[in-house]
Amino acid sequence: MRIGYGWDSHAFKSGVPLKIGGLALDHPEGLSGHSDGDVLLHAITDALLGAVAAGDIGSFFPPGDARWKDANSAIFLETALEEVFHAGYAISNVDTTLVLAAPKIGPIAERLRENVAMLLHLEPNCVGIKAKTPEGLNQDHVAIAHAVVLLEKLDNSGPALEMAAAVDSPTSVEDVVRKLLDDPAPIPSPIPARKPIFNTEDIS
Ligand code: MG
Repeated sequence: MRIGYGWDSHAFKSGVPLKIGGLALDHPEGLSGHSDGDVLLHAITDALLGAVAAGDIGSFFPPGDARWKDANSAIFLETALEEVFHAGYAISNVDTTLVLAAPKIGPIAERLRENVAMLLHLEPNCVGIKAKTPEGLNQDHVAIAHAVVLLEKLDNSGPALEMAAAVDSPTSVEDVVRKLLDDPAPIPSPIPARKPIFNTEDIS
């Protein structure tokens, strides 16, 4: 098992659409940022990358890169999911806490949960969405998100997967066994070059 933690904050700004958890929310202000400012998806993305020690959101999506201007943060999340899969893990569950004065999250928490679960390819009961107001913090114009994820190692040994795939295919099991015996040393897939890690710049 692996655990990951992510945190993010964005300031509210008028004239910007508000997106949280991939949902467009009706509110007079949105969250400013180089991307769409989705504070919740950014925190979850960092938690996933951290769990597999793959760097952080800024190392994959530098704020100076024009490609990520107003980008849909679901793209960042999908990239983190690919890193998790590449490392041989699957998500067990995700828990999050939003800290913001407005809008109230309670009435939309269920929609948020279902949407975040859909983006993570999980069942809704594997995603926690909690919210608090920033009591005593004097941060009413900021949205903060915390996220933790738990990953479980997948059993993905090559020959076993090959056998499983072959059973579902028209190829006979005998053919697969013969192929495995004829090819004693499967060539491992090359590991793609990784982005530099420990760039702590955020995409905001
Ligand atoms: Mg951010």
